[in-house]
Amino acid sequence: MAEKNLDLAARLRPALAGFEPYDPAFSPCRVNLSANENTHALPEEVRAAIDAALLATPLNRYPDPMANELRDAIAERHGVARGSVCVGNGGDELLFNLLFAFGGPGRTLVTCPPDFSEYANFAAMCETAVERVWRDAEDFSVDADALVAAAAGADLVFVTSPNNPTGDLLDPAVVRRLLDETDALVMVDEAYVEFAPEGSSVVGWVASEPRLMVLRTLSKAFGLAGARVGYLVADPAVVDVLGAVRQIYSVDVLAQAAGLAALRCREALAGTVADIVAERERLAAGLSELPGVRTWPSSANFVLVRVPRAAEVRRRLRDEHSVLVRDFSAAPGLEGCLRLSVGTREENDALLDALATLVREES
Ligand code: PMP
Repeated sequence: MAEKNLDLAARLRPALAGFEPYDPAFSPCRVNLSANENTHALPEEVRAAIDAALLATPLNRYPDPMANELRDAIAERHGVARGSVCVGNGGDELLFNLLFAFGGPGRTLVTCPPDFSEYANFAAMCETAVERVWRDAEDFSVDADALVAAAAGADLVFVTSPNNPTGDLLDPAVVRRLLDETDALVMVDEAYVEFAPEGSSVVGWVASEPRLMVLRTLSKAFGLAGARVGYLVADPAVVDVLGAVRQIYSVDVLAQAAGLAALRCREALAGTVADIVAERERLAAGLSELPGVRTWPSSANFVLVRVPRAAEVRRRLRDEHSVLVRDFSAAPGLEGCLRLSVGTREENDALLDALATLVREES
């Protein structure tokens, strides 16, 4: 008789053992500042343009696999050719596909943790070794010499600017060194760069740097996290490889239509980004007045804080004030840290008020 025992552990690809379904422990809350989303309502004209584009999109046909109209709008935004742009189901898909394509057994990815945890997850799934160049424990700066030394023997380097969850920008001079002094493929993750000062991006270098790849997303500044649209600007040969290995219809027709409409009205989104940047500074200033709370300068749409009894503060924010933030207090290098996404003025006020109360009570 056939065995009824599922015994999945024995059947699972060994590299995938230990992974669990992604559950960020979302609870319905009045104020959700936990996932670095853009919580501002889209400007009316942008929302109307997206709605019209969605309404005009037939659902009975498969998507254009490479999303060429969207690629063209992105290419125009960055002054590159269509062939230098690969669109993905969020930046996440592109990060996975980079490791799927260029990682694998015997290959090494260099990262600078604490950083976006998916880098290491995707590397493990793709059986790619990870060499970690830890950031400074105090100010989270990257040791450029150590990074370049590690990258010299590696296949891939992922750096993040601004970095999640620490908020700091990477000096472009470090990217310069990685390109000049190593042979690695260098991916600069600029998911949050629209919230950083003008001139922070290295996307303009891609045209003359075949080993440089820049990741962007419409999830943050463009407010489209739910639509799942990210893209990579890279050498056309890299884009061809990614085009060959991707799930062919991963960016659906609605996502393509929404992304295209949002990109076409990006001027109208500038006000929202400026407001989030101003709110970030106001939030940081408010936080710095709370006793025992430490913050780090951020160029993104979130602020990292260290508070006494962080896990308890996070729980009470959620349960007593209906404010949800992200707990990193158990993550290596982030002891006692919470990550606060920047919301609207009202949301940030609710967070500051609640934190002021809890920090007083918990200290
Ligand atoms: N890179 C970084 C640093 C991120 O924080 C995120 C999302 N949190 C992503 C990439 C991926 O974003 P998305 O898949 O929504 O485009």
